[in-house]
Amino acid sequence: MIKLQSISKSYTTPNGTFQAVAPTSLHVEPGDVYGIIGFSGAGKSTLLRLVNLLERPDEGKVYVDGQELTGLSNRELRKARQSIGMIFQHFNLLNNRTVADNVAFPLEIAGLPKEERKKRVQECLEIVGLAEKVDSYPAKLSGGQKQRVAIARALASRPKVLLCDEPTSALDPQTTRTILSFLKEINQKLGVTILIVTHEMSVVKEICNKVAVMERGHLVEKLSLSEREVKP
Ligand code: ADP
Ligand code: ADP
Repeated sequence: MIKLQSISKSYTTPNGTFQAVAPTSLHVEPGDVYGIIGFSGAGKSTLLRLVNLLERPDEGKVYVDGQELTGLSNRELRKARQSIGMIFQHFNLLNNRTVADNVAFPLEIAGLPKEERKKRVQECLEIVGLAEKVDSYPAKLSGGQKQRVAIARALASRPKVLLCDEPTSALDPQTTRTILSFLKEINQKLGVTILIVTHEMSVVKEICNKVAVMERGHLVEKLSLSEREVKP
């Protein structure tokens, strides 16, 4: 579902060039909940942003759902991104828009008709159990509720893949469990493949079937948790 082929990314800083992601390959199969764990600064967030080309790799190829994203024009890429949802540590909701308008936002950009947007918003808010908050503003919501709205927004375009960037790092343990159980359900019931980056081992233990460890831009170990089998 996701194939990264020797992708790398360097940033130019005042102190010179810094390689955040060394040439890296990764294969995420359909139905996986794949975790990438590592300390802060390891390059996890950059790696995740390379998957939907929020960052352009310096080298290598990115495939999602059989399509080579690195070969697409900007217009084609915008379309391909509709099958890739993303959530963030700090939710990234628009505070001056209601919950409904936040969830509808990517659909508006995609040009979906209003009636279809309404239907999708309803459908996605129900998945995360927040249908009654449709007219609320983000400021009125708890952190866990904000993340649930962000999940609904990510699901609105019915993606095959959900990218999660430290999705529970701003949440308390109990709320974390709630969010992880929603993610598990989305994987199992909707069949969405999940790639999640985190510094929390508990997240990996709770929902991932595979994990890779990232250190200083390298994926140093890949492990299948269901079989406890070490792969190169
Ligand atoms: P992680 O998600 O594991 O904390 P990041 O991918 O955010 O790691 O960052 C990896 C390294 O790349 C860090 O040293 C960070 O400072 C650096 N970095 C990330 N984004 C940029 C950027 N836009 N410009 C320069 N350096 C960056
Ligand atoms: P950080 O990891 O530093 O907290 P985020 O992961 O929250 O940063 O956001 C990273 C970047 O992603 C931001 O620069 C933001 O502009 C961009 N971004 C925010 N929301 C979306 C979205 N829904 N789709 C694509 N890009 C987004």
